[in-house]
Amino acid sequence: MNYIVFDLEWNQCPGGKERENPRIPFEIIEIGAVKLTEKLTQIGTFHEVVKPLVYHRLHWRLREVVPISPEEFSHARTFSRVVKDFINWCGEDYRFVTWGSMDLNELQRNMDYYRIPNPFEKPLLYFDLQKMYSLRYDDGKIKKALGDAVQELGISQDKDFHRAFADAYYTSRVMQEMDLKPVSRYVSVDYHRPPETKEEEIDLDFKTYTKYVSPLFATKEEAMADKTVRMMKCYKCRLPVWRRVKWYSVGNNMYLSLAQCPRHGYVKGKIRIKKGPDDRVFAVRTIKAADEEAVQSIYEKRDQIRQKRKELKKRKKRSGSAKGNAGANSSLSENTEPSES
Ligand SMILES: [Zn+2]
Repeated sequence: MNYIVFDLEWNQCPGGKERENPRIPFEIIEIGAVKLTEKLTQIGTFHEVVKPLVYHRLHWRLREVVPISPEEFSHARTFSRVVKDFINWCGEDYRFVTWGSMDLNELQRNMDYYRIPNPFEKPLLYFDLQKMYSLRYDDGKIKKALGDAVQELGISQDKDFHRAFADAYYTSRVMQEMDLKPVSRYVSVDYHRPPETKEEEIDLDFKTYTKYVSPLFATKEEAMADKTVRMMKCYKCRLPVWRRVKWYSVGNNMYLSLAQCPRHGYVKGKIRIKKGPDDRVFAVRTIKAADEEAVQSIYEKRDQIRQKRKELKKRKKRSGSAKGNAGANSSLSENTEPSES
């Protein structure tokens, strides 16, 4: 298997968000890529500037940062032609590598816009090297700029940043130089095409946590009512766990839950509801170990929610409207209010 390390430059509507085409908010204007073997030896390169067809002027921010000259655009081919060559160049057996999680999504969104059939495997797993770098050297959350990683690893900087090929090249150099092995199991899942059916749902085991990606649902409530979505198992032994705090919502599209494995202690669950195609949604659930601090904060949060509900009930009783609303109220709070079971 080869690695296709790639980077895109894209333009956005120079007239602002109100005037953009919502089907293609970011129009790709350059593709750069480096092909590495499994042992990370460079065996090929790809670079081409793309002629823009949707937004003809460059956004001012891009003009400042990305030094593509008008001459380069005047000789450029269209996205449809360039991307077909790019896909052919990728070959048969490969994994995409990008710095950050946006490029693969934008690549496919541009392909959809031009109705280019999507040839990528499903589920599409890839290396987000920015995340892996963070997991290896930082806290797994900090998102470092590519230039900082290049500097930290002492890689010589003989190319200007912010051109697609240079950034793909530097990403490939970071991949070659960093201590990759300890984090090589942390593949990322591309969410551009989420699972459509139960058969396509994704279950990944990263040893320190598990990740589940649900099929598409019509609504968030439907997703949260699904048994598989709500399921809590130990991330380590995968055995059933004792429920401690049921799923409760924090913010609009996130839910937390706490459980206890008889052998491995507290585990916390997190569900994120994400937007899929056609206004449908899907759930991404992760389960990992919960340290004392996390356990404390989840219990505290539950107590806060309970307290709020109590006060709400009292107020309603006082105003005399409790009777009429009691049924609706309790069924509503069933999903949001955590309790022991
Ligand atoms: Zn366990």
